Amino acid sequence: VVFRLRHKSGREVWVEDHGRIVYDNTGKILFHEGVLRDVTERKESEEKIAELAEFNKSILTSAPVGIITVNKERKITSANKAFADMMGCPDLEEVFNADIELPIFNDENIKSFFQKAIEHGQGFEINKLPFTSHWNKQLIINLKGVPQKGKDGRIFGVVIVVNDVTDSVHAEEENAKLEKQLRRAQKLETIGTLAGGIAHDFNNILAPILGFTELALLKAGNDERLARDLNQVLKGTRRAKELVEQILLFSKQSEKERRPLALQSLIKEALKLLRPSIPTTIEIKKEINPSCPLVLADATQIHQVIVNLCTNAWQAMENGGKLTIKLDQVKVDNEMANLYPNLYPGQYAKLTVADTGSGMNEETIDRIFEPFFTTKSVDKGTGLGLSVVHGIVRNHQGEIIVNSEPGKGTIFDIFFPIVQQDEQTRQDTEKTLKGGNEYVLIVDDELIIAEMVKNMLENFGYKADIFKTGSDAIEVFEQTPDRYNLLITDLTMPHLTGLDLADELRKRQPHLPVIIMTGFGDTLTKRTLNHYGISHVVNKPVSVKELLPAVRKVLDES
Ligand code: ADP
Ligand code: MG
Repeated sequence: VVFRLRHKSGREVWVEDHGRIVYDNTGKILFHEGVLRDVTERKESEEKIAELAEFNKSILTSAPVGIITVNKERKITSANKAFADMMGCPDLEEVFNADIELPIFNDENIKSFFQKAIEHGQGFEINKLPFTSHWNKQLIINLKGVPQKGKDGRIFGVVIVVNDVTDSVHAEEENAKLEKQLRRAQKLETIGTLAGGIAHDFNNILAPILGFTELALLKAGNDERLARDLNQVLKGTRRAKELVEQILLFSKQSEKERRPLALQSLIKEALKLLRPSIPTTIEIKKEINPSCPLVLADATQIHQVIVNLCTNAWQAMENGGKLTIKLDQVKVDNEMANLYPNLYPGQYAKLTVADTGSGMNEETIDRIFEPFFTTKSVDKGTGLGLSVVHGIVRNHQGEIIVNSEPGKGTIFDIFFPIVQQDEQTRQDTEKTLKGGNEYVLIVDDELIIAEMVKNMLENFGYKADIFKTGSDAIEVFEQTPDRYNLLITDLTMPHLTGLDLADELRKRQPHLPVIIMTGFGDTLTKRTLNHYGISHVVNKPVSVKELLPAVRKVLDES
């Protein structure tokens, strides 16, 4: 029996009683004989061990890491709840019942680590190990092994602490990807700024070259050989000027005014313009959603985006193939918005240009948006196309996503935010846009613009002819002066200005109404307008909303 006694010094002691009590025949205690041993120390250490065991147990159950012990035969001898949860095991008991040899030890590397722990008592640490658990859970884990030694120094097993780092590893990868995107964006920005600066200076150098060459050409008079040489200089200078304009386009934030635009008609116009240069071995497929809403955009720039992408597409299909242009309305969800920093949850117009051509490898894809990066020969590529596209899309708060594989073709997806427009204003706009069936004569030295205006009018029932120069227009007009009900002409054109043209045509048909299109910076006084009998002036870039009411009004009044 073990019991507590108070020592005469006052402290309490545990004693073990090895003795007996002697009774008399009535059962009364006579005396007590034997030994009492002081066992306080032993009793206290027993209590400590029990406390320690309890402590260990609470660590094991509450620890957020998986802890197991494994014997020499690589069988799990104990495991905590966290380990079972981590492995996707529904019940802690099953960890043992499954009687598994831990699949992690099938890895040769880990086997050798484990062997060293068992044989030489060496601890080990293994990080970021991809791993599929016995219960089919995909994990990335960190392992830490500590050999367990008995009193005699013999090793009887290993404690393994298992940490699930799946989420943090994935987060790290995601971060690295974003960082790469950011670095690329910054690189493009830097190159853009640099190139923009050079282009600006270069433009200033070109101006006098151009001016003085033109002057010299005048002075050359009848010297034909000199004139021919100077013309070559002019030709070269003009090409240089075009290049510089392209660079300025992607390096500068465009300050041009944006309007709600229908991409459908822009795509149609661009394809019309492109078709003659695309080889007949290439099939063109259009999948245009006619009800895709308007986007806030600069028509000329979007036109350029489509032309550049399509040009690359057909150039990549030397042996023929299929060029697909798609337009659709898509919803960007949170997941997608997280993936692409320039996209926000909401509605977008998605323009897709896909080809079945050569495709690109990773290294090429990494660099395609850099200005002057090209894999084409000097006469075919400048390396500016995609950098211009990139700059424009960025200026429009859009995003550009490329998917490509060598030999498998390329897909460019461009996202433009859709204009938020409530139903009422949309209906109002439609009501005010009245068409007609009159015949219109359109003149602009930039054929794209003439085409665009014609398209806008034809969409509303009008008929139209276009001309690149005033003299062409006059020639046709002379033959059929009664055909046309209205002249729409650009103001600044070489040889014959819009005003002069209006004058000429009115000599032949005095009541012909005239609408003048003016570019940025052109100013016309009221007096000039009256003098030339101009009915209306519209600003470039021309929008349907401005053009159609003007046309109807002018025609009705004449
Ligand atoms: P360029 O067309 O003048 O070379 P871009 O900036 O338009 O310049 O394109 C850069 C490079 O990107 C091209 O030289 C080509 O290697 C690659 N590329 C662009 N579009 C495609 C495509 N659709 N298919 C294959 N490669 C392409
Ligand atoms: Mg190109």
